[in-house]
Amino acid sequence: MSHNKYKPTIGLEIHAELKTRTKMFCDSKNDPDEKRPNVNICPVCMAEPGTLPVINKEAVRHVLRIGKALGGTLADFTEFDRKNYFYPDIPKGYQISQYQYPLVTGGSLNGIAVTRVHLEEDTARSQHDKGDEASLIDFNRAGVPLMELVTEPMITSSKEAGDFARELQLLLRYLGASEANMEKGEMRVEANVSVSKDGTRGTKVEVKNINSFRAAERAIEYEVERQSAALERGEKIVQETRGWDEVKGETFSQRIKEGSADYRYFPDPDLPKLKISEIKEFQNMELPELPSEKRARYKKEYEIKDEDIESFVTSDALGVFFENVAEALGDDKEKAKIAASYITSDVAGLLAKTGKPLHIKAVAFAELVAMVSVGEVSSRGAKDVLLEMFNNGGEPRAIAGARGLFQKSDERELGALVEKVLVAHPDEAEGYRKGKENLLQFLIGQAMRESGGSANPQVLKGLFEKKLR
Ligand code: MN
Repeated sequence: MSHNKYKPTIGLEIHAELKTRTKMFCDSKNDPDEKRPNVNICPVCMAEPGTLPVINKEAVRHVLRIGKALGGTLADFTEFDRKNYFYPDIPKGYQISQYQYPLVTGGSLNGIAVTRVHLEEDTARSQHDKGDEASLIDFNRAGVPLMELVTEPMITSSKEAGDFARELQLLLRYLGASEANMEKGEMRVEANVSVSKDGTRGTKVEVKNINSFRAAERAIEYEVERQSAALERGEKIVQETRGWDEVKGETFSQRIKEGSADYRYFPDPDLPKLKISEIKEFQNMELPELPSEKRARYKKEYEIKDEDIESFVTSDALGVFFENVAEALGDDKEKAKIAASYITSDVAGLLAKTGKPLHIKAVAFAELVAMVSVGEVSSRGAKDVLLEMFNNGGEPRAIAGARGLFQKSDERELGALVEKVLVAHPDEAEGYRKGKENLLQFLIGQAMRESGGSANPQVLKGLFEKKLR
């Protein structure tokens, strides 16, 4: 059942673990791939009495660069606060976060306004699936630098929310700030969802436990539907936190949401306030080319299809390869288009199927594209040449020669073939002359068969047309 008269309003809260050598406030290693529990820990991140935190400048720098890339305002004055709550995964009894003075305010991505980006520490990872026996806690993650980004509640569909999260992941990867794999928990998306009939803000529900982009979209769709149906029945929406059950495809009530007053935020007296403009590591933050800039450049320089651009923007390896091929083709736009579609379909297909890295030389690939563009090899033949180049390297001319894949384009040689076909099929030839245009395809097909598939069909077409004019 659909309740179209209810319009959703969605805001996102996204956490991402930052890529740094050490944790946020101590020198324990920040290693998301460590499988052994409780090895990257020290007295500081285990909250032993008498220990003191030290700010990781690498993490602060990451968040400032993220803010710059979003076009936000970077704080000059900033401080860290204690967010107090009790849970076994937070050994100090509080999380060090930022409250009044986040590192970044404002900015936008994909046309969605960003409210703030702040820096905090991650919690330990708890595991409750040991039955009634025990819960297990791994403190490797406790104190890992964590970015929290909050958007304005201006997203109006699940797709828009999913697109924002995907674009943020891409941006974080471009900046080298985070791997942001949702499946690994390096990026976590929470959605605040409300619905209303008249455009006013309804009661919002926060949805957590989302571990993929698809899950984020499904959870939002489910919530919009659930809230609309409840309102339709005359019920009130409870402001609460709900979890997403991936298997059932449903959200479920977890707890009634705390207000920020419950956390008793206050500035952490163990940490210095920061004056960003006075700290040399935070000056001169050069950014790499950002995804949006790369899209614009590809569109302008190569005029290739949007889908191809997207493939190159999301896969750095393919993008770099394409640019090298295009350069080897002398920046010829028509050939660049052929190259782009071969790379995004055939090459990307081979990479996905085999899991092998790409070893084809850009110059050799450019040669193959040039051969296809003048009809020296058919697109079918090019696939065979490409496969050989992908598996064993080599030059496309040598491969096409050795396998007899060059198309015959010689007009004299093919002219004889055309004569032969016309003699063998006088009725079809006559039919075509009288206007049955589709008979041309038949005649070309006969000639292709006669040549064993080696004739250039474009040349054959021209010859038939000339003969039967
Ligand atoms: Mn947070």
